[in-house]
Amino acid sequence: MNEEDVKQRIKDYQQAEGVHPLTCVNNSKHEKLYPKVLEQGLVLLCPNCNYKQTYIPDLFYDEGFYEWLRGMKSLL
Ligand SMILES: [Zn+2]
Repeated sequence: MNEEDVKQRIKDYQQAEGVHPLTCVNNSKHEKLYPKVLEQGLVLLCPNCNYKQTYIPDLFYDEGFYEWLRGMKSLL
């Protein structure tokens, strides 16, 4: 799976309701992290400070990601 696909999955996840979004560790009041492909690879960035997360949870590489996400929504 290429990084653009994973980036899109993260965007979809961050906008989904009923899941806990990926947030800044410096301040939980900061806006949700957003994915960006840098030279070093895919990272998550905070819109409000210089926090950068290089760890991408395995979930986003999982074949069943969208099924899982749909399942989360159907629980609402
Ligand atoms: Zn932040």
